[in-house]
Amino acid sequence: MARLGIDLGGTNIVVGLVADDCSIKDRISCKTALPRSAESIAEDMGRLCQEIIKRNGLQNKDIEAVGAGIPGTVNKKTGIVEYANNLGFENVPLAAMLKKYIDIPLFMDNDANAAAWGEYKAGGYKEDSFVLITLGTGIGGGVILDGKLLHGINYAGGELGHTTINFKGRPCNCGRTGCFEVYGSASALIEQTRDAMAFDRVSDHLYEKSVLWTLCGGNIDNIEAKSVFDAVSQGDELANILLDEYTTYLSEGIANIINIFQPAVFCIGGGVSKAGKTLLDPLKKKTAKLIYSRNSAVNTEITLARFDNDAGIIGAALLNELP
Ligand SMILES: [Zn+2]
Repeated sequence: MARLGIDLGGTNIVVGLVADDCSIKDRISCKTALPRSAESIAEDMGRLCQEIIKRNGLQNKDIEAVGAGIPGTVNKKTGIVEYANNLGFENVPLAAMLKKYIDIPLFMDNDANAAAWGEYKAGGYKEDSFVLITLGTGIGGGVILDGKLLHGINYAGGELGHTTINFKGRPCNCGRTGCFEVYGSASALIEQTRDAMAFDRVSDHLYEKSVLWTLCGGNIDNIEAKSVFDAVSQGDELANILLDEYTTYLSEGIANIINIFQPAVFCIGGGVSKAGKTLLDPLKKKTAKLIYSRNSAVNTEITLARFDNDAGIIGAALLNELP
C-alpha cells in the first residue's frame, strides 16, 4: 500500500508518493518561503499531500500512512516540534496542525533520523546496526541500533555533528567550539578552501596557478565543495592538500562515532558523498588507523549513501514501520 513521505526543508517542502518497494512514484513540492508561520507551513504540507493523492487517482483510504521528516527535535509522543532552529519553531504542535488537513495516520521524526531510516530500509541492509551522517551545510546524523532508531530520552539523540573534535577550535552555532560539523561539513570544506586560496594570494603565491582559481573564475565566492574534487581529479596540488586535511577531520569524527556505537555499517551521505572513491578511499584508510577496534577481526564497513535526498522522503514515508 502506498505511503506519503514529507521532507520539510529550509528551502523546499517535498512530498513523495512511496510504493511498498521504496520507490518514489511521484513527487510534488513548493517553497518553504521562510520566515512564515507554522500554521501556514502545515497548511502547505497538507495541501501538497491532498494534491499528490488526487493527481494519482487515489483516495485517503489508499494511503497507509503519512510521515514527515522535520529539521529539528520532534517529540514523537506529543507530536510537538520542540525546537527547529532553521524554521524558527519552538514547541510547535505540528502534528495537531497537520491533522486538520490530513485524515491519514501521521508519523513525524527528525529529518536526519528519517534519512537514516530511509537509506537503511531502501538499501535493504540486513545488519541491525547502521549509522548515517549527511555532509551538507552541517552534519546530520541518524543511529540505528538493534534495528531501531536511537532517539534518546528527549528525542534529541543522534546529533552526531555536534560532538567536539577540537575544543579550542572554531565556534559552532550550537554554542560549543570545534564541533565535528564545523570541520567536516560541506560548508566547512568550502570555507577551508576559500581560506587557503585567500591566504596564498596575500602570502607566498605558491598556488596561484591552482586549477581552483580557474574553476571559480578568479572569484573565491564561487568555490563549491565540488570544486575541490574536480581539481583533485585534474591532479591539482592545492586541492590534494585540502582534501587530505578535510578527510583527516572527517576520519577523526567518524572514528569517534564508530568507537561509541561500533555499527555494522557507517554510511556517508550528502552532496559531498558524490565524490565517490576520491572521498571514500582516503577516509577508509585514515579511519582504520584511528578506531579502537583496529585489531578486531570484524570492523565497521564505511560506505556511501545511495539514495541521496530521496532517503529523507522514503524514510519519512516508512516511519510507521519503526519498531
Ligand atoms: Zn555544534
